[in-house]
Amino acid sequence: MSVLHSLPWLGDAWQQLSAREASPAHALLIHGAEGIGKLALGRAWAQRILCEATPGAFACGQCDGCHWFLGGQHPDYRQIQPEALAGVEVDAELPVSASKTAKPSLEIKVDQIRALPVFLNTQSHRGRRRVVVVHPAEAMNTNAANSLLKSLEEPPSGACFILVSNNRDQLIPTIRSRCVDIAVVSPSWSTALDWLKKERVDDPEIWLGLAGGAPLLARDRAEHADAKRVLQLVTALRSCDRGALEAWNPTDRVELELFTELLQKYAHDQVRLLGGGASIFFPELKIKNNPTLPKERPNNDRPGPARAASLVAWLSYARHVGKQRSLASHPLNPRLFALDLLSGLPQA
Ligand SMILES: [Zn+2]
Repeated sequence: MSVLHSLPWLGDAWQQLSAREASPAHALLIHGAEGIGKLALGRAWAQRILCEATPGAFACGQCDGCHWFLGGQHPDYRQIQPEALAGVEVDAELPVSASKTAKPSLEIKVDQIRALPVFLNTQSHRGRRRVVVVHPAEAMNTNAANSLLKSLEEPPSGACFILVSNNRDQLIPTIRSRCVDIAVVSPSWSTALDWLKKERVDDPEIWLGLAGGAPLLARDRAEHADAKRVLQLVTALRSCDRGALEAWNPTDRVELELFTELLQKYAHDQVRLLGGGASIFFPELKIKNNPTLPKERPNNDRPGPARAASLVAWLSYARHVGKQRSLASHPLNPRLFALDLLSGLPQA
C-alpha cells in the first residue's frame, strides 16, 4: 500500500519527487507544516530508492530491500533524529510533550552526523544507493549542521540525503542551497477532518483545531495519554470560564506548558475573530457565541465599541501570555503561575 493511499494529499509532493527521477538529486529538502506527513513521505521515497524490484511508481513492498526497510533494518538506510523522537511511529512528527521525568534531547547532535561518513563511504550492502533521512532538519544544532554541510558539499557517490523540515527558514542558507526543494502542501480542513474520522479519532474537530489543521499532529494529540486532561481544558476555554480554568489546576511543568500553549492559542483566536478574521485553533468560536463579548442585539452584526475594546484587551493579553510562555518551563509553582496568568484574562 503506497503512502498516497494512507495520506492522499501528498500526491503533488510525490509527483515532484518522481519528476526528478531521471537525474536524481543527492539532497532533497522536504518541507511544510508540522504534522502533515512529511516524514512518511520522506521514508516512502527512501524505500522507493532502496526497492530492488523493477522500478514502479512506488516501492513494491515485497522484495528483500522492502522487507529490510519495513523491518527497520535496511543496512543502506539511516534515520537521524533527536533522542526525544526515538521510537516515534512512522507517521508521527513531533512528541506532544516531553516525558515528565527524563529529558531526552530535542536536538540533533554533532556526533549523530559525524558517524555518517563511515556509513556513506562504505560500499552499499545491497548494491544500490545509500539513503539518510534527517528529521526534523532544523533540530540540528550549529555543529551538526556544519558537519552535515561538509557531506552535502562533497557527497559520497550513491548517497542520497533527505532532509525533512517543519521550518525551512531555520536551516542555514548554505544547506538550503544544496538541496532540491520539495514543498508539501497541507490538506484542506475537510480532507483532514475526513481522514481523522476514518482513523476513528473521537472529537476530530477539536483535535484538528488544536493542531492548526494538521491531521497527523491532531491524531497524535488525541491518542496521547493526556488527551482527557486536554479536553477538560478545551471545554473550560470554550466558555472562557475563569472558575473552570482555575479548577483545571496544572499539576506539573508539562501540564503548565500545555496550559500556557492552549491559553495562547485561545487568545490568538480571539484576536483573529475580533479583528474580522476566522479562528484557527478553536474552530467553533465565533463572534456570535463569543463568551467574552456582551450579548449583541439580534440582527446587529456590526462591530461596536464593546468589540473594539475587547480586541485591544485580547491583543495585549495574547502578548502577555506569549512572553510568559517562555518562562513556563521553569516555574517555581505551576499553580501560582497559572493563577497569575488567569488573573489578566479579558472577560465580558
Ligand atoms: Zn521493493
